[in-house]
Amino acid sequence: MVGIKEYAEKFYKSAAWIKCREAFINSLSNKLCNRCREQPGKIVHHKEEITPTNINDPMITLNFNNLEYLCQDCHNREHHANVLTREDVKFDLEGNLIKNIPPEKKKDIYS
Ligand SMILES: [Zn+2]
Ligand SMILES: [Zn+2]
Repeated sequence: MVGIKEYAEKFYKSAAWIKCREAFINSLSNKLCNRCREQPGKIVHHKEEITPTNINDPMITLNFNNLEYLCQDCHNREHHANVLTREDVKFDLEGNLIKNIPPEKKKDIYS
C-alpha cells in the first residue's frame, strides 16, 4: 500500500499504537531489521495489513505476533512488491505489454 489512508493515519497517531510500537521495539533482543538482519530496524510493520475492517481489532493492530521490525529498504520492498507487478507494465493500444512509468509515489512513512 502506498500513501496514508485517513483511517490508518488516525490509528498511527493513537496513544495505543505509539505505546504498543515502543513496547514491541523494547521487547526485541536485537534491534536489527527482522528480515535482512543487516540494517537497524526503523519501521514497525503489520504482517497482516491494516484495513478499515480490522482497524479496531487489537488482535491485528496491537498484536506483537502481527508486528515486524523492518529497515526502510525491506519495508519498501514489502509494500511495493505488489504495486510493481501491477504498475510497472501496461498494455499499449495493440495489446502489447509495455513498460509503464508510474507517477511519483508519495513517500510511505508509516508502517
Ligand atoms: Zn532489512
Ligand atoms: Zn508496513
